[in-house]
Amino acid sequence: MLRLHDITAGYGDTTVLRDVSLPVPRRSVVALLGANGAGKTTTLRVASGLLAPGSGTLHLDGTDLTGRRPHVLARRGVCHVPEGRGIFPNLSVRDNIAVHAAGADTGEAVDRAVSAFPVLGEKLGQQAGALSGGQQQMLALSRAYVTEPSYVLLDEVSMGLAPVVVDEIFEFLGRLAEQGCALVLVEQYVAKALELADYVFLLARGRLEFAGEPGELDAAQLMEKYMGTH
Ligand code: ATP
Repeated sequence: MLRLHDITAGYGDTTVLRDVSLPVPRRSVVALLGANGAGKTTTLRVASGLLAPGSGTLHLDGTDLTGRRPHVLARRGVCHVPEGRGIFPNLSVRDNIAVHAAGADTGEAVDRAVSAFPVLGEKLGQQAGALSGGQQQMLALSRAYVTEPSYVLLDEVSMGLAPVVVDEIFEFLGRLAEQGCALVLVEQYVAKALELADYVFLLARGRLEFAGEPGELDAAQLMEKYMGTH
């Protein structure tokens, strides 16, 4: 289990999260919902070690990793796909995959990435920055395949993409979940996230307002109250 417990965190003097506890069991899909600015991205940053909490703890499979650097969590199987993708636009698609494979066989890593999203196979020599938005997101996600993580944290991965691409990305996430990888989904397509989710957490102004299973949530009420018209 990846477990945030009683987390308080923020930036400088600004406290964003207060007493947030988020358990992510192995092989589960967790949807983390909330309005803009509620603290979803900040929660993912704490979960991947990018942001050290002011108080509270971060445990991975029983080991206390509070305050440890992101590469420590990455090595232990926590993969963060940040908002904005985090790919290297000036490197080729192949080199982007090689960077994420870090130490593993590049050929095998490329094969795995292409098996996740076949379109990448036709683009290996191209600069990543020249790909379409959807293809760039596929490249960012393919690393979740290459490094075989146990937990993948996904920050608005469908943002700004065409519906057909969003469908393809959700199919991939479904396959990842079926293969036993736990997912934490921050997602504007709430209904799609809830379809996959085993558990839902709802943040409002940095505090948890709801924790439970999707069936316990009144989706219409949720959209109206927290999501505007999405
Ligand atoms: P969104 O959907 O808009 O991304 P979010 O739920 O992911 O929202 P966060 O990005 O975690 O929310 O932001 C929560 C609060 O923290 C916001 O008020 C935001 O302005 C503030 N914040 C985020 N990043 C920083 C930062 N680097 N420095 C200072 N304040 C920040």
